[in-house]
Amino acid sequence: MARFISRRAAGIEPSVTLSLNTRANTLKEAGEDVVGLAAGEPDFETPDIIKEAGIKAIREGKTRYTPAAGIRQLREAVAEEYSALLGVDYGWKEVVISHGAKHSIFNSLYALTDPGDEVLVVTPYWVSYPEMVKLVGAVPRIVETGAETGYKMTVGMLREEIGRGRPKVLLFNSPNNPAGIVYTREEIEAVGNLLLEEGIALISDEIYEFLTFDGVEHHSPVKLLPALKDQSVVITGVSKSYAMTGWRVGFALAEEQLAYRMGAYQAHATGCPNAISQWAALEAVRSGAADRERMRGEFEKRKKMFGERLAAIPGISFPEPGGAFYFLADVSSLYPACGVSGSAEFCEKLLQEKGLLVIPGGPFGLDKMIRFSFEWAEEQLTMALDRFESFVSDYS
Ligand code: PLP
Repeated sequence: MARFISRRAAGIEPSVTLSLNTRANTLKEAGEDVVGLAAGEPDFETPDIIKEAGIKAIREGKTRYTPAAGIRQLREAVAEEYSALLGVDYGWKEVVISHGAKHSIFNSLYALTDPGDEVLVVTPYWVSYPEMVKLVGAVPRIVETGAETGYKMTVGMLREEIGRGRPKVLLFNSPNNPAGIVYTREEIEAVGNLLLEEGIALISDEIYEFLTFDGVEHHSPVKLLPALKDQSVVITGVSKSYAMTGWRVGFALAEEQLAYRMGAYQAHATGCPNAISQWAALEAVRSGAADRERMRGEFEKRKKMFGERLAAIPGISFPEPGGAFYFLADVSSLYPACGVSGSAEFCEKLLQEKGLLVIPGGPFGLDKMIRFSFEWAEEQLTMALDRFESFVSDYS
């Protein structure tokens, strides 16, 4: 059958983070002594009020197809909540509910690009971005960043990239996975103004919007520059903020005509998002703020504990995460002593020798780095750090 596989499908690789997460779980189930910091999901249970809303939906028989772009109640609640949060009016027809934020991003790319269009993707990028761009037939153009700018794209870099080609869309993510970087108000204003000037569309992935720490503030480009609404899709959802990763509900907010096209695509691609999950997500949006803040507070403590110990390990460096739940650390100074040439080999060695599973930075566009996720309970984080320290001292 292999000879029938399309060139497009052959060009797509599975998600490294999902594959490694499965690998950690399989090893643990087989009784191996493995500590995994691979997944990017809260280790908390979905809050009870949200679970109950899902159970109620099942009991009440809300188990049939819904409108393709989602139930009106959820679209209205999201429109109301985000109009208030962003200070920009969104009507319910400007909200599309999908199977997770990942799906919302895919739909946005599908609706915004034609085959061959260029999409700017900034390092360190979420693993799925370049693959999704390729899936819709567009071309990812990678904007390389480095330690000099704190792994952020400056407006100068963006201007240069624009000068090199004809990008149609910028795929932007703050707070960021995999580094937890949060762009400041000034940085976002500068980037947003250039997008307005150049007429480039923006997909702003704000899935970690509520997960910021130590007083760092998340700024939505649309909130800072309301004129951007007309050329932006704001992506968010319930997965990270309300510990609902497996329920699969994401939101896209976009001007009505684009939202209409995204809904039309979804109607033919998947029918509609999961009915039960939409009712649970409605409860999250309406009444989940206290639980959301409780979990955020816990993540903040875990981040502090993890960051302090990580910073004390010699030979590595990392940008301070202001949000999400990741540290992206430059471990390349250890490569020669470890006898490895890149992040994948480094992570494999760490797994083989210490039973610690973390994610290589290569698939995020930075092969010098590895990603730790710190959303785990303190005991697991402590075990992981013990193992990492011991590994580093073996090769120092
Ligand atoms: N965007 C980023 C930056 C993410 O890290 C993730 C999940 O890891 C998503 C989107 C997808 O979220 P969801 O689980 O709602 O599809």
